[in-house]
Amino acid sequence: MRIAVFSTKPYDRTYLERANASREHEIVFFEPRLTRGTVALASGFEAVCAFVNDDVSAEVQATLAQNGTRLIALRSAGFNNVDLESAKRLGLSVVRVPAYSPHAVAEHTVALMLGLNRKIHRAYNRVREGNFSLGGLIGFDMVGRTAGVIGTGKIGEVVCRILTGFGCNVLAYDPKPNAECEPMGVRYVPLDELYAQADIVTLHMPLSKETHHLIDADAIERMKRGVMLVNTSRGGLLDTPAVIEGLKSGKIGSLGLDVYEGEAELFFEDHSGHTLHDDVFARLLTFPNVLVTGHQAFLTEEALTQIAETTLASVDQFARGESLTNAVPT
Ligand code: NAD
Repeated sequence: MRIAVFSTKPYDRTYLERANASREHEIVFFEPRLTRGTVALASGFEAVCAFVNDDVSAEVQATLAQNGTRLIALRSAGFNNVDLESAKRLGLSVVRVPAYSPHAVAEHTVALMLGLNRKIHRAYNRVREGNFSLGGLIGFDMVGRTAGVIGTGKIGEVVCRILTGFGCNVLAYDPKPNAECEPMGVRYVPLDELYAQADIVTLHMPLSKETHHLIDADAIERMKRGVMLVNTSRGGLLDTPAVIEGLKSGKIGSLGLDVYEGEAELFFEDHSGHTLHDDVFARLLTFPNVLVTGHQAFLTEEALTQIAETTLASVDQFARGESLTNAVPT
């Protein structure tokens, strides 16, 4: 099949070409994001391969469908950027990569926790400038601390496993508890109890209408003073201005982010020579106790291999007219 790949980075090309070596798809790589302005590039391609910040709205889909596209293959687990009702109406199939490596994201989540806790980002800069003072670098032992994991699907489960391994007391909240978690010693509790008890709160649920801005001023108010908050799921789970108020007041002791609500305008590109116009993001970067990575939690060799393999396996199934194992129900 002819596949138009949007938001292409060098690693996408490397891993997709490797996966295609044993197949015969015609893959064309486009660097721009999929938007109303770039959708014409996909004209004549039966399959479009999109990533997390591509615009797969009803309007973009209408043009895709009109120009011959029949399959939208997301090389991500999340599908919050796709209008599923419109896909159904237009007869577009949507596939995703539901589990490429939960370990990649879970391990990055814990890297943010440890980095923040032991102030690795500050120590790194100090040492390079010949400053070996330890002032302000005091952390805490993870053993015995209470971590609250919200969302215990594939990634949350691995986070629970790592944190129980550290000797943390792990509390969890999920409307659909995971049977793997309780045997590890994880205790499911109502959200209020998790907020009240947790020294660390980490988010691992999808972004939806229900979870949008789940962490708002009210939720923050119910958390422990000095709580560490970590979000590697989707930026829209946090009401970022409320989080900034929490940081200013000291209610939030530290914040680790791999995702940001306005990331589509920022992440995955080099903006180092330009003025930062997002004042909310700029404010976040002024706090010494905030550690931000640019949506890189998925970026491991294993995950990229799996993303490319699963994506092309879905295209194979579509081309053969088979049922799609990784279809997003529309
Ligand atoms: P999953 O579907 O396996 O698990 C999600 C869990 O969230 C489910 O158990 C579900 O019951 C639970 N959930 C739903 N609504 C909830 C709510 N209101 N409160 C608490 N829990 C709720 O998904 P996953 O593979 O573990 O991925 C989780 C999220 O991680 C994805 O939706 C995606 O947004 C994000 N992600 C980020 C990256 C990255 O690179 N930063 C990579 C992959 C996935």
